[in-house]
Amino acid sequence: MHHFKTILHDEAGTAALGESLALALAPGLTIYLHGDLGAGKTTLTRALLHAAGHAGHVKSPTYTLAEPYTVRLNGKPVEVIHFDLYRLGSPEEFLDAGFREYFNTATVCLVEWPEKAAGVLPPPDIEVFLGIIDDGRDVELQALSEQGKACLERLHF
Ligand code: ADP
Ligand code: MG
Repeated sequence: MHHFKTILHDEAGTAALGESLALALAPGLTIYLHGDLGAGKTTLTRALLHAAGHAGHVKSPTYTLAEPYTVRLNGKPVEVIHFDLYRLGSPEEFLDAGFREYFNTATVCLVEWPEKAAGVLPPPDIEVFLGIIDDGRDVELQALSEQGKACLERLHF
């Protein structure tokens, strides 16, 4: 499966997708999260992190731009880094902060506002597009690599 599309009728629906995605993750994945402010990118990430075993708060890394969490995937500890690049001043700032080092075969990176680091951000394995419709959201997931495709094949939603 390269492609998956559905409607999320309420916040619980977005959270449920995050939980399902948590079960399908594997180290090495980079996931871009697209969508306007309020589309549900952080809601999805928060549910994913909680489902992967993170017990504490998940706040949007609005000023820190990146927030690492250690969770468990298939019983093994894995670092998941949540980026919110909305306030990134320039692609150079991304490089200077050393953010590229977060992207490696041992981690999972979830990136809100990837457009802000165009040109320096490592390519995605999966792109998620969230759109606001009436009271709900439509969501589209697209795999762009073999690893991303394998993840979407493991996704049961
Ligand atoms: P973003 O990170 O994309 O800016 P947030 O996750 O911070 O968005 O905020 C999303 C807002 O929309 C929250 O208030 C949340 O309760 C709400 N929300 C999330 N998913 C849905 C949905 N499927 N239907 C309706 N409201 C939703
Ligand atoms: Mg957000």
